[in-house]
Amino acid sequence: MTRPYDGKRGLVLGVANRRSIAWAIAKRLADGGAALAFTYQGERIEKSVRELAGSVSSPLVTDCDVRSDDDVRRVFDKVGQAFDGGLDLLVHSVAFAAAEDLEGRFTDTPRERFWLALDVSAYSLVSCARAAEPLMESRGGGSILTMTYLGGERAVPHYNVMGVAKAALDASVRYLAWDLGPKNIRVNAISAGPVRTLSARSIAGFPTMEAIVEERSPLHRHIEADDVGAAATFLLSDDAKNVTGTTLYVDSGYHAMGM
Ligand code: NAD
Repeated sequence: MTRPYDGKRGLVLGVANRRSIAWAIAKRLADGGAALAFTYQGERIEKSVRELAGSVSSPLVTDCDVRSDDDVRRVFDKVGQAFDGGLDLLVHSVAFAAAEDLEGRFTDTPRERFWLALDVSAYSLVSCARAAEPLMESRGGGSILTMTYLGGERAVPHYNVMGVAKAALDASVRYLAWDLGPKNIRVNAISAGPVRTLSARSIAGFPTMEAIVEERSPLHRHIEADDVGAAATFLLSDDAKNVTGTTLYVDSGYHAMGM
């Protein structure tokens, strides 16, 4: 039996451990037949990422700090070598802001840490999309997916500078979609409701965000990382061949509410 992703080649950035949203997406893609390369940031998580990647027979696992242009260049060179010069799928599930900026007042964010959050969480999509472009072009097109959050559209207490970074990320999705559309490369985002991951734990008041979604969203329940994985398999697939520049909300409908 053929699977939906048989013959597809993908690169996944942002797995830290098995709770990562990137891992939930990767598992779905691998189950669907995709060959996947992975990056990890820093030795601290290397072992866990290598183990997870090994469980889906990944041909390439390499380190990448998205703040480094050299790292991004090296990663995409290696991906080209591993996948015969072609890439179909890019999963960008990377974000960072200093913990002290995810509590207290946004007003007090210092310049350096403002740019740090935007560099890692928004500009990295632009640099990775640029590096992916020739590899996807050689396959006749491709699909790029990033992870965003409602805090980029509305003020969510404590989300602070990460909300500003998500706003930049959301706009980047639309401009990249316009630039890359003529090459049949699609660019989309999933806006996920709160999921308990490593990054989420650094947001002060995260349990309150979860409780509010449960109380006020139309479905009155939390989402799981695998719900994002399921939505991702649609957006990354040829079934979504005419979907680009958009955001799909996987948040129990919370974004639709006025209060
Ligand atoms: P996670 O901690 O598992 O993943 C975040 C990843 O970003 C990690 O793998 C980390 O290594 C990577 N990263 C951080 N700085 C980096 C750098 N300089 N270079 C390369 N990689 C770097 O947490 P997650 O919740 O799975 O986050 C994935 C994405 O989902 C993020 O964009 C996050 O904002 C978004 N998101 C998460 C939630 C949630 O509630 N967990 C909700 C909406 C959106």
